[in-house]
Amino acid sequence: MLTKQQLDEINGFISDGSKIVITAHTNPDGDAVGSSLAVYHYLKAKGAEVSSMVPNKFPGFYNWLSASNEIIVYETDAKKAKKALMGADLIFCLDYNAVHRLGAMADILRAAKGKKILIDHHVSPETESFDYVLSDINTSSTGELVYDFIVALGDEELIDSKVAECLYTCIITDTGSFSHSCNNPKTYDVMANLVRKGIDARRLHGFIYDTFSENRLRLLGFAINDRMLVWEELKTALIYLTKDDLKKYKYQVGDTEGVVNFALSMEKVNLAVLVTEKDKKIRLSFRSKGDFSVNNLAREHFNGGGHRNAAGGNMNLPITDVIDKVKSVLSSYRTELNYNNASTDGL
Ligand code: 5GP
Ligand code: MN
Repeated sequence: MLTKQQLDEINGFISDGSKIVITAHTNPDGDAVGSSLAVYHYLKAKGAEVSSMVPNKFPGFYNWLSASNEIIVYETDAKKAKKALMGADLIFCLDYNAVHRLGAMADILRAAKGKKILIDHHVSPETESFDYVLSDINTSSTGELVYDFIVALGDEELIDSKVAECLYTCIITDTGSFSHSCNNPKTYDVMANLVRKGIDARRLHGFIYDTFSENRLRLLGFAINDRMLVWEELKTALIYLTKDDLKKYKYQVGDTEGVVNFALSMEKVNLAVLVTEKDKKIRLSFRSKGDFSVNNLAREHFNGGGHRNAAGGNMNLPITDVIDKVKSVLSSYRTELNYNNASTDGL
């Protein structure tokens, strides 16, 4: 946690009616959007002038979150985002460990004069880029840290049902509905308190997970049936989706969320990879069971990173070359990949 003095300084900014900007990472997920909006509602309740922004569009299944329509998307509203960032006294940096994770927004954040506070749970935070750092890799989600932060500022009562819905989204999405990063009793204590705030957890879960379009579900079926390679000797399954595949199923942002988890759900698989052909680059998603670190794998070979059991990467090669590269890199980890997984992740 931050020191008492740091909390007092931050409280000074918040209570002063200062201009505050909230930022979160590229390809925002439930934790990024949820923690941004939780902080947004909290700061508004404290009387601050707040804006929230993300580098690019987030999935439509987070649109039910209160004030999600207030989030500025840099990709489509760069001027507005830049103006707010440059004029901010305090900048929240949520759910990312390094400024480059802001993509096209990164240089503006670097140039911004406001004090920067990082709240994050990814490994190896770039601490020198921030004035205040609240980072804990043993926490389920950035949302859980935001909860701790608000409580540490003495504002537990400001966690109303709106804030609680946002924080619920963070924890439920970053633990895969309590299927990983879920061995810490404290996470359940926090969730219990969120339920006490009056959220309808069952309904919210449905908003996130049961609002597929027909195209999205058919894309999932196609991906598993027609685009999944299984490399038994590497205990790995890889699903790839080309630009044409995505076009055929009228891809919308978020439609490939969760696809990689189906590959990991096979008993014989320890590592799952999703390779997606985006406009100008190839995006990779890695998931593992047990001790095999996809964070290290993504960092060392695929220009990315993340957590031990969930990470992402990026390549600028034709998709077939990327698939070949994944296979050849993994071949050098053959021994490491051939463990009998008990599927524990320690957290
Ligand atoms: P996903 O596969 O869902 O896109 O990402 C899995 C996890 O890895 C998320 O926690 C995400 O924040 C992180 N992640 C994804 N891409 C990158 C990346 O390029 N760099 C880093 N450091 N983390 C990433
Ligand atoms: Mn997260």
